[in-house]
Parts: sequence; structure tokens; C-alpha cells
Amino acid sequence: MKKKKETSAKEKALFGDKLKNPSNILPQKLTMGSKIKFRCHPGVRCFTACCGGIKIVLTPYDILKLTKRLEMPAHEFLHKFTEPTYLENTDMPGVQLKLREEDNKCPFVTPEGCTVYSDRPTACRYYPVGMADFHEGGSKDANGEEITSEEEKFFFIVKEDHCKGFEEDKEWTIEEWRADQGVDVRDEMNKEWLRLVMRRKSFGNQASLSDQAKRMFFMASTDLESFRRFIFESSFLDTYEVDEETIEKIKHDDVELMHFSFIYLAATLFGAQVMKIKEEKIKAKVKQMKERQDESFQNAVKEYSDIKKEREENNE
Ligand code: SF4
Ligand code: SF4
Repeated sequence: MKKKKETSAKEKALFGDKLKNPSNILPQKLTMGSKIKFRCHPGVRCFTACCGGIKIVLTPYDILKLTKRLEMPAHEFLHKFTEPTYLENTDMPGVQLKLREEDNKCPFVTPEGCTVYSDRPTACRYYPVGMADFHEGGSKDANGEEITSEEEKFFFIVKEDHCKGFEEDKEWTIEEWRADQGVDVRDEMNKEWLRLVMRRKSFGNQASLSDQAKRMFFMASTDLESFRRFIFESSFLDTYEVDEETIEKIKHDDVELMHFSFIYLAATLFGAQVMKIKEEKIKAKVKQMKERQDESFQNAVKEYSDIKKEREENNE
């Protein structure tokens, strides 16, 4: 029977767990300078044990790197290697790696190790050192400044029985470990996207999000080629103010486009004041609304006079 994919250690490491589930998380808040004893290498008894029976949620940057590595368009990658999921118990749609039917392992693992190692997903890089670094409300004040009072940032260790890396002699600080795993770049790339997810999580599902908004979030998060077509082949650029320099950048640069998509999503999903609708579009919309109002008013007047006339005729 296929093992149920519960919140896995790698998923916890990616999203941060805030020590709510202490089952395999050591109850210690660590800092960059904290030391850990750990080493993972092909000689460990458990080599690749952490690459099966897991849930690995992919961030937009993970997908970008993996599709480039595999020289595959996003839609093909998504179809072949992923399956849908909801992010962090919210209604935000995302994808996770689809484990192999035959052994419930990651599609990229072999007995020799990870075949996409230098482009492995963020969750794999974090493990076993998770980071909690989220604004609880993800909100901004009236001046558009981030509210940081509730921000909390710390590291924690996910320690699972099968992981023998903790028996190794190598000692590092968290900072050294993270540099070695290349997580700093990933953090920078994922930051705004994770913030969107955590913002949705902290608002709860009371605030409704339309299906169209969720579809847009999914498309922008998983398929940058489609998002680029949306920008350049729809009325997007007629609607929003986007400067020439940005337009040139996002035409060819996928990373720039990805960051741009986060800004756009923050504006459309949460109303962040980060994108401006063109003045003429606003005017046209106001005019259209006014025309509609005028039309309804004219209809109401006509209806009223028709009824009045009918009554008068009946009374004669
Ligand atoms: S991507 Fe690589 S490191 Fe991550 S689970 Fe798969 S095989 Fe393991
Ligand atoms: S030491 Fe831990 S991280 Fe390395 S392969 Fe074993 S289980 Fe995975």
C-alpha cells in the first residue's frame, strides 16, 4: 500500500514549523552561530533514506532550476514529475514531487544518490536544518512599510531516527552548513513567494480568494512560460503601469520574471499597493460604470413612467 505522505521532515524544514510538532524537531531555537554535528555523504548507512516516503513541495525557483536542468518545458515537467497539493494547509494550490509508484521514492534518486543534486529543491537543501522566518501577518503599514514587530527568525533541527548523519564527527555552525548547501540563494529567491503563502495562512480562509485568483497563483508559481505569455499577449501591459526597463528584463530573464510575478500576485491576491493601474484605464472604467448607472437610471425612469401610464389608463 502506498504510504500516506504526512507533513514530512523536508516540508517542515522548508516552511518552518515553529516547533509546534516536536515529534522529530529538537526543541531548541538555534542561531546562525549555533553549532551542529552532522555530515551527509555517500558512505553513511542511511544514504538516500530521506529521499523516499516524503512530501517535497516545489517553490517557483525550484521548478525553474529543475526545468532548465532537465531541458524540459514547465508543462511537461509538471505532468511528468509532480502532483498537485495545497500549500501549508491553505487553499493555495501548488505542486509536490510525484514519488515513484514502484518504491515510493523521489523520481530523481538512484542508489548512487541524487541525479539532480546541484539543482535539488530547496526543501532538500534545508534538511535537516529548518528555518522559521515569516511575518505572521505579512502586512504593511499605511506607508507601505513591512510590519516586522511579530517577525521571528530562528533555525531548528529536524532529527529523524533513520538519519545517521548526526553520528558523524563533522561540526559546523548553522551559517557554515547553510553556505555549504546553497540555501542563502534559495532563501532570497523564495522569500516573497513564501511570504504570500504564509500571509494566506495567517489570514485564514475567511477572506475569500476567487478561483480565478487561485488559478493565477498556480500558473505564475509553476509555469513561467505561460505567465510570460499572459504578460505579453494579453491586455496586461495596457492595464498596468510597468516601466520600459522592467519590460525588457522580464521579456528574456526568467528570474526577473519570477520576481515580477510575486509582485503581481501580492497586488492581485492581497491588494498590496505595489502595482499601479494606468490612469486612462481607471478613467475608462469609471466612465463605463457611470454609463451603466445612467442606463439603469434611464431604465428605472422608463419603467416608472410605464407603470404610471398603465395605472392612469386603468383608472380612466
Ligand atoms: S531531489 Fe535529490 S535530494 Fe531531493 S529527495 Fe530527490 S533525490 Fe533526494
Ligand atoms: S545522513 Fe540523513 S540526510 Fe544524509 S542520506 Fe542519511 S538520512 Fe539523508
